[in-house]
Amino acid sequence: MSRKPIIAGNWKMNKTVKEAHEFVEAVKDKVPSADLVDSVVAAPFLALDRLVADAKGSDLKISAENVHFENSGAFTGEVSPVMLEDLGVQYAIIGHSERRAMFAETDETVNKKVLASFAHHLIPIVCVGETLDEREGGKWQSVVKNQVTKAFAGVPSDQAADVVVAYEPIWAIGTGKSASSDDANEVCAYIRKTVADLYDETVAAKVRIQYGGSVKPATIGDLLAQSDIDGALVGGASLQPESFLALLDAVKG
Ligand code: PGA
Repeated sequence: MSRKPIIAGNWKMNKTVKEAHEFVEAVKDKVPSADLVDSVVAAPFLALDRLVADAKGSDLKISAENVHFENSGAFTGEVSPVMLEDLGVQYAIIGHSERRAMFAETDETVNKKVLASFAHHLIPIVCVGETLDEREGGKWQSVVKNQVTKAFAGVPSDQAADVVVAYEPIWAIGTGKSASSDDANEVCAYIRKTVADLYDETVAAKVRIQYGGSVKPATIGDLLAQSDIDGALVGGASLQPESFLALLDAVKG
């Protein structure tokens, strides 16, 4: 089963709307065909309306960096899946480790957000990954299995196949210390096995699994050559147009 790679930039809390717009204008006609790779940028909420309009008619897709699980109501400061769907946003990053660590995101809220995303035609990019202590303590399997199992709870198998899982070891994010491509593949294969246990081999073979954590244009090729790594979620190296395009070039081999 061949899976289409998905390379997503995660801008985090960077770029004004003007800067975001200039980035998309610079890359939108240069990204590879969507037949070859899904090219995605995840931007702060403020820029999404503009970026969806900018990217229209191109092969670039726009993602949110978070989403609330309720459709509307008294949730000061939050943005709902209804609002994102209305804009034409196609993806939402859910459960990034920075949100888990700093904004009280839990496996339970991650699951609610996954279910809410599917209810509004957003494809969830679900982040999982262990801390350095957990890795050194030999616990990465149980940590990752638990996060994946809880994230997929209640998701029917046809939707489960569309979930994108981003394996992001916390110790590798923004540190310059990337996991080796063999180690990253070992975890991604384990995530796929977990999905097979939850559903079946057919669903597991369709789920796309990204690696994230200090991915650079120079390192993405080795990662994509692995059996179970279907793309990357990239922070720092996605902020400049040239670097983002260089990441996408790796898909062409
Ligand atoms: P990084 O961030 O590429 O800057 O390590 C990755 C991420 O947090 O998604």
